[in-house]
Amino acid sequence: MKRRISISLVLILFLGYLPAFGQQSAIKAGHLIDTATGKVLDNQIILVEKNEMTGRSSILEIGPNVSIPDGVRVIDLSDQWVMGGLVDAHDHLAITYKEEPESWFYYMTIIMDSTPLRAIQAMSTGFQKLASGFTIVRDLGNNGLYADTALRQAIEMGWVPGPTIINSGIIIGAFGGQLYETPEREDTVYPEYLNADTNDEIVKAIRRNIHYGAKVIKVCVDCQAYPYTTDQLKLFVSEAANAGQKVSGHVQTREGARRAIEAGLWSLDHDNALDAELHSMMAKKGIWRVGTETPKADFMRPMSEERWNKRVEMLRDAFDQGVKLAFSTDADYYIPGLNRGELTIEFLRTWIAADIPNKEILKVMTTNGYEISETQDARGPVKVGFAADIIATAANPLEDINALRDVRFVMKDGRVFKQDGVVNALDFFHNGPVYGWRKR
Ligand SMILES: [Zn+2]
Repeated sequence: MKRRISISLVLILFLGYLPAFGQQSAIKAGHLIDTATGKVLDNQIILVEKNEMTGRSSILEIGPNVSIPDGVRVIDLSDQWVMGGLVDAHDHLAITYKEEPESWFYYMTIIMDSTPLRAIQAMSTGFQKLASGFTIVRDLGNNGLYADTALRQAIEMGWVPGPTIINSGIIIGAFGGQLYETPEREDTVYPEYLNADTNDEIVKAIRRNIHYGAKVIKVCVDCQAYPYTTDQLKLFVSEAANAGQKVSGHVQTREGARRAIEAGLWSLDHDNALDAELHSMMAKKGIWRVGTETPKADFMRPMSEERWNKRVEMLRDAFDQGVKLAFSTDADYYIPGLNRGELTIEFLRTWIAADIPNKEILKVMTTNGYEISETQDARGPVKVGFAADIIATAANPLEDINALRDVRFVMKDGRVFKQDGVVNALDFFHNGPVYGWRKR
């Protein structure tokens, strides 16, 4: 009996300490954009709940006449344009190309920077991207020994704020990966690349990545003179599918792209080799185009007029042919004066140059992003029952897509990360097993 009382007492005390459990907030949205359709509803109230025990959040109600319970935090965005978060479908958060000391090449990073250091860097770059409204990032390799997994786990465990991370672990490639081995030190490219030449090695590399926390598989299709065969790429697809995962392929040659399409990869990353004929094949098979369309002001290397024109023309061609398009950047380099989020949004320039309508660019950056990330049934759209990831701009992006350059408000998982243009992220940092240990 005595014991029962003490348990009840402990429970009562415990519950007494949980005022934040299921804490709600209400957003007064002046203009709520459905990014899938471009439709706008004015004067909506979005009731949101964040669960302090699980880290999960959800949108409880949306409508013009939602009643706001007493004591609920009210967030007034009645003069703003409210929508789901943005998605960058291709970046590398634990690396930054830079002129010094490595002449825009990353051997120095691999040799001099430890994975723990790069994991902290990844947290910083993810933070910067979230501040620009990117609530989901596909982080596709070049992250040392799984700094990308560490970042995803840290965000999911509630230690730090950041976008939802869909990470690839180590990029799998034929001998040499995307770099060059030195005979004196074989496997120099590890851990930036996992060399996998035979079918056995391919299966092992995929399983290894998945075991160490990858959520998508990244393959360098044709980075060496000995590209993967169509059959090998099919093996990638089936082995990843065995664990419910998709395969994203770095492609840089026409033949590589053709094989990747034939093998049915989930996405083809980089636009350099893509042309109208390949676009037509991609459209038929429903393969994502992750073009990483660097704008003309290519901050790393000068880009010829010819190359820029081709980039814009081909993006337009892909759009016209109905290829599934994702906003993607590869914005993994350092430009003085720009943080990583500001650099990411610069990639709008290419989409504007391709004369793609604002409504469609916004859809690519949101709705399409949720689909390529496979979060579309739980996270992304501003809908009842979905995770509360919400951003807002001062101006209407349907009228001028450059409105996205000034994201004033960011809510991630029901927590306010940025308001009135100012980041205040303390609500995201926890030092205990708040959402449970051992997220894999
Ligand atoms: Zn990349």
